Order: sequence, then structure tokens, then C-alpha cells
Amino acid sequence: MTILRPARPLLLALLLRAFAMPADAGGQTGSPAPDAALAHARALLKSTPLIDGHNDLPWEIRRAKDHPFDVAAYDLRKPAPKHTDLARLEAGQVGAQFWSIYVDGEMKDSGYARVQLEQFDIARRMIARYPDRLAAALTADDIERAFKRHRLGSLLGMEGGHAIENSLGVLRSYYALGARYMTLTHNVTLDWADAALDSARHGGLTEFGKEVVREMNRLGMLVDLSHVSPGTMSDALDVSEAPVIFSHSAARALVDHPRNVPDSILARLPKNGGVVMVTFVPAFVSNEFKDWDAAGDSARKALRALPDTAESQRQWEQWKGAHPPPAATLSQVADHIEHVRQVAGVDHVGIGSDFDGVDYTPVGLEDVSKFPDLFAELIRRGWSDADLKKLAGQNLLRVLRQAEATAVRLQREREPSTRTIEQLDGGKTTS
Ligand SMILES: [Zn+2]
Repeated sequence: MTILRPARPLLLALLLRAFAMPADAGGQTGSPAPDAALAHARALLKSTPLIDGHNDLPWEIRRAKDHPFDVAAYDLRKPAPKHTDLARLEAGQVGAQFWSIYVDGEMKDSGYARVQLEQFDIARRMIARYPDRLAAALTADDIERAFKRHRLGSLLGMEGGHAIENSLGVLRSYYALGARYMTLTHNVTLDWADAALDSARHGGLTEFGKEVVREMNRLGMLVDLSHVSPGTMSDALDVSEAPVIFSHSAARALVDHPRNVPDSILARLPKNGGVVMVTFVPAFVSNEFKDWDAAGDSARKALRALPDTAESQRQWEQWKGAHPPPAATLSQVADHIEHVRQVAGVDHVGIGSDFDGVDYTPVGLEDVSKFPDLFAELIRRGWSDADLKKLAGQNLLRVLRQAEATAVRLQREREPSTRTIEQLDGGKTTS
């Protein structure tokens, strides 16, 4: 849904705002009158940090066309080619961001750990480059401190457990470099965990996979269950002593996509304490877009079989021209948020956009400047300020604090794990 800005008479605008705005809301007077719900959303996001669970900007910098890996050339003070730059983060009132340090699980030409370390390097250089706007954050307290100083608290989230190369020592080194969540898998099933979009080889987590979760709990690294199979979600919930997150997923009851979270898992979140950070990925929030995406995948697969890659690309462009994607909408994203609230509860929902990680975005949520519009929609749907604050970031802050406290306790109880995949899973490993 887009925001209408009719030139209302001033009196009507003032009346609307009097009903719609909280006591502490600011807002500007003048003409044209601002949308009351949007003004309310903007005031709310000044008072509480909006924490987004997933943004793929570091990968965009890595693969930038003219200057790959070049944090200086990818100048965030200028309009950036994709969804994220400093001006739009400011307009979107983003309070803290988990920058995804994604590593492709299907690459063949380089070790995962090398690429993972390069992604740490890109993200850390990016954060250090803008000290007046970004502040490295490792804890819930860091996020709140940065927010008070009007800096965007910047956390690192790893996307894909393949990057630990079956080593708990590597996992611990990533924590030391600043990783504060790890998505257990990306799209490829690992030696120790099944992915949502790949074959289920283990029925969930292997014994080593469970040890990875236990070690993440001991470190205080959030266990991220976006991208994993329902079996892995379930096993991780059985094992984890700290709340889990889903850094960028939506509700499977509304869109039956394997990347989304089934109601049976949502129902387990109150006991675990975790949070589903609802994503904006069009194929996960819109059934029409999901069907279009699936048709496009089949077409692309067929075209890849052509010997001539230029011809294959030409025909793919032709296919896209003949089959324009249906629009996903901001309103659909709000529906997923409300579904998670309904099934898991308002203490277990957050926001995880996946900006910079997708080619298409919903109408109304085109880039990082649009977050307040989503809050305005929920205000129109009757959400209270207290619930909006939980959604924006208070739930995630609670999860982080619980994970930090669990780590303190577990570090008193046990030493770092030195168990290996060979010991725990026997001859089943293939790497
Ligand atoms: Zn992802």
C-alpha cells in the first residue's frame, strides 16, 4: 500500500493526528498535511530502535561491477545502485542492522572460510568508514548506546553454516570477529543440517549439528533458523537453551514456500522465547509472485540447457518481457506480521527485510527508506505503540539479552567443545 498525501484542510489533519498520535509524538505542521499514521510511525521510531534482521549490502560491495570488494568506491554517502545507502537508512529510521556476511553455499572455486573472512573484512571496513553514522555493535547494550548517539548499530550475521567447514574452532573464531548470528544453512544441505530448499538427508540436525547449536549457545551467537528445513527448525528448538531467531522468513500458512515458517514451529516460539523477523522477499509474501518465480525457474532451467549462453540470456530476457512479475505489496508483508503475531504472539515477531539480497521488492517497500510506511500501515490496522515497539526492536533486544545471559551461564558450566563431526556422526560425513 502506498501512502496518500491529500491536501486536507489543516483542521481535519490536526484532528486526525490528535486521535492517531501518541502523547510523545512529534510530527510537523504545515502544508500539505502529513499522513497522520506516517507521522505517528516516524515519532515512534524516534523513541525505539528499529532493528532489521537481514541486509545483504556486504555481498553487493563484493560483487560491485566496476570496483569489486572496494568499500571506498561503493560510497554510501552517494545514492547507491541497490536498496541501501546512508541517506535512505536515515529516511527509513533504521536504528540497528544485522549486515549479512553471506557466503554462497554452491561455489566451487574457493574455500568457504576464505570467502567468509573476506566478507567479515568488507563489512568491518564498511562500518569503520562512516563513524559519524555507523557504530559497530556486539551486544544489546551496544545497540541502545548507538541509538542514543544517533548511530546505526551495526551487527554481523553469518548466512550459512557451511562457512565453519565442520569445525567448532572456526565457529568460535567467527564469534571473536564479531558474528552475532549464524543461519545454520543457506540453500544447500550440509553434512550436519538439512536446508529448506535442498533434500533432507538427516531429518534435521545430526549429532554434530546439535553440538554446533550448543556451542553457539555457549558463545552467545544467535541460532538463525531462516533457510533451514522444518526438521532442522524442530531439532534446533529441542536443543537450544537460548531463544532462536529467523532473520528473514515469513509465514508458511499464508504462502506455502519452503523458506517460510510453519504454524507448528511458530507455536513453539513462546516457550523458546525466539523471534521471527518477517521478510519482504516477494516470493515469500505473495502467492502470485511465488508462482511467477517458480515458472521463471523452470524457464531458466530449460534455457540453461542451450549451448549458446548469449542466446540463452536473450531468451531469458524475452521470457521476462513476456511474463512481467506480479506485484507483491506492503499490505501482504503486514499480513505476515499479523499472522506471526496471531500464532506465536506479539513477543515473537520482528522485521528482517533482506534488502540488497533480492532483485524485486514489494510495492511500498522499495528500499530501506520505506520502513516507516510499514509501521504506518500497522498503525492503521490498530496496533498499539507498545506492540509496535516490540516489533521494531524490543523483542530482538530481549532475545539478544537472553542469549548473552545464557552464554555467561554456560561458560561457567562447560569448556569450549572440542568434539568433531567424525566423533559424533561417524562415517556419515562426506567432506
Ligand atoms: Zn537469505
